[in-house]
Amino acid sequence: MLINDLIKGNKKFREARFPKYEGDIKELVEKGQKPEILFAGCSDSRVTPDSMLDTKPGDMFILRNVGNFVPPYNPDDDYHGSSAAIEYAVSVLEVKHIIVCGHSHCGACKSLYQNLNDSPNLIHVKKWLELGKRAKEYTLLAIQDKSDKEKLYRATERISIVHQMENLLTFPEVERKVKNGELQIHGWYYRIEDGTIEYYDGEECSFKPLKEN
Ligand code: ZN
Repeated sequence: MLINDLIKGNKKFREARFPKYEGDIKELVEKGQKPEILFAGCSDSRVTPDSMLDTKPGDMFILRNVGNFVPPYNPDDDYHGSSAAIEYAVSVLEVKHIIVCGHSHCGACKSLYQNLNDSPNLIHVKKWLELGKRAKEYTLLAIQDKSDKEKLYRATERISIVHQMENLLTFPEVERKVKNGELQIHGWYYRIEDGTIEYYDGEECSFKPLKEN
């Protein structure tokens, strides 16, 4: 994919798809955005929220980072990009749903099992991946047969989603709104090989095929 392909793509978008959104865009510009959903997914290029969910401009506030990790609430003087997006979505946009969406073949989850070198060029990656450590430890305890690495990675990807959902609740405003029934947290798992999505059933502690309510 070349930059020129992106330029051509934008032209195609403006000619073919943009006119379909024109009414919505006018309102979104005049009144501002009011999405009801915060989608927190991985930066992986194979995870494409708007395509895979057939959403349009204004539908979802999107946070993407390496591994779709959610850092725990930590009010200090550092720069917390992902936490800022969560706070903004919850306290300013007042979203009604947060979807933590993991995916199959996630490089971040796989790298939890590899030794990253101590290169200063990966200092932030290494620190960030600590957010998946608990998922790895839990997976190693839960899975008896550890010889099948791919099975181990798939389990880690799913378990990590649950842990990131727990981290969301460390944000006081998220916890308050969830308790009051103003906000719902969903755990989704996107299978990049076939485009299907599973959801986390908290009562049965398992992932199931997503279906309409
Ligand atoms: Zn990923």
